[in-house]
Amino acid sequence: MHETAIAQSIIDTVMTHADKAGAKHVDKVEIEIGELTFLGIDQIRFWIENQIAGTVAEKAEWIFHSVPGGIRCPACQYEGDIKTAETEDHFRLPVFACPECGQANIEITQGRDAWIKAIHVEID
Ligand SMILES: [Zn+2]
Repeated sequence: MHETAIAQSIIDTVMTHADKAGAKHVDKVEIEIGELTFLGIDQIRFWIENQIAGTVAEKAEWIFHSVPGGIRCPACQYEGDIKTAETEDHFRLPVFACPECGQANIEITQGRDAWIKAIHVEID
């Protein structure tokens, strides 16, 4: 359900922008998805492609960039990528603890959001 809500909000934003710009076609949309959102990019792409048939964005190219998770540790001042660990069923999941000192009370600095980075439109 989360993916469909994100997909719909991306479509709404792209359509509003295309309308305001007087676009004839939307050529390309670039979207950044943070790793820590745990959103399925394939599902978002599938939803978007299903919803845009017959619109100005019908032939747009949808480019997704995955943004890695970043953390900051208030105890030892570590700042950098979040570490991942393999689970028993071979998924890699982020470890919400400082890789330097093991502190669990960390701040997430990057990778929690999904946003549209660029919308390229064709006006005539
Ligand atoms: Zn630390």
